Amino acid sequence: MEFEVVLAARAGKPLDSLLLEALAECISRSVPLRILFQRASIVGEKEEHQPGGLLQTISLNFPRAAAIAGGKDEVLAEWLEDHLHRVVEAHQAKKALLANRLKAGALAPLQSPGKAAGQDIPFHLEQFVCGVGVWGLAEMTRLHLGESPAKSDAALKWLLKLMARIKLRMNELGDRHGLRLRFVSNRSRQVVDRLSQSLLEAGFDCDSQSCESLIDLDAEDSSTWVSEGKVHSFFPSGHAVLGLEALNRKDKTFIQEAIQMAAAETHLGGLTWVDEFCRCRQCSAVSGEIGAVCSVCGCEQMVLVDRQGQGMVNRITRL
Ligand SMILES: [Zn+2]
Repeated sequence: MEFEVVLAARAGKPLDSLLLEALAECISRSVPLRILFQRASIVGEKEEHQPGGLLQTISLNFPRAAAIAGGKDEVLAEWLEDHLHRVVEAHQAKKALLANRLKAGALAPLQSPGKAAGQDIPFHLEQFVCGVGVWGLAEMTRLHLGESPAKSDAALKWLLKLMARIKLRMNELGDRHGLRLRFVSNRSRQVVDRLSQSLLEAGFDCDSQSCESLIDLDAEDSSTWVSEGKVHSFFPSGHAVLGLEALNRKDKTFIQEAIQMAAAETHLGGLTWVDEFCRCRQCSAVSGEIGAVCSVCGCEQMVLVDRQGQGMVNRITRL
């Protein structure tokens, strides 16, 4: 029940109007849809559009770095770089463990009879991406500078400079250790809860965490999407997607404009909507109204689809 559409997006180039109309139509009918933008960016990984292949994600605790740094830029950056080393060590250990298990025939049950070990199994450890989870960028910036990157240009500039430094170091470490390290945006509620436990004393407000954007933007104000998109350019396309609440219930013109805006004026990796909707298993009717009886065919075969995590997780419940 999930579709991904990959669009070539270039600044100043409008998208095909028929395509836009079709996408808006799908979204307004609550078809679970993610739109990914294929674009070259200075820091993005344009070669990667194939999904999957993520070995594991280990998160860097950005707000914790700010809590420890006490307002000193250099301390903050060094703390993050130091912990990046530990992330790399953990990925190396995991990769070595998996290599051993593969060598010992862990995938043998999947092997066709008569083939040598590993010959027909499309599993190449070295091609997998080792995720460096990014979360709490807005919180880190607020703790460190007292300003939000979604609202202050100076704060956004500071954040981008820091991200560029960490990304550079990540790429160096990846090259040195033969790991495909990539930033992965981490919006899971469990991760936020776990990583923020030690931060309450430093003034970290867990409830203020925006779960669908990296820098805490106001989804109704499209001008802040441009700021959000600048941060997304540090992620391989598709790993950082702007999730908008209830986009499917907005006016179709609004949906078209949102897609066009995101494609032409931001560096966003993609756009999706996150919300709940009902779907009838009998006649496939969809509805934004939550109810156990289908308003089209009258049957009681309704399921509730709750789209979370920038549209990457669907929780489906029988009503
Ligand atoms: Zn029905």
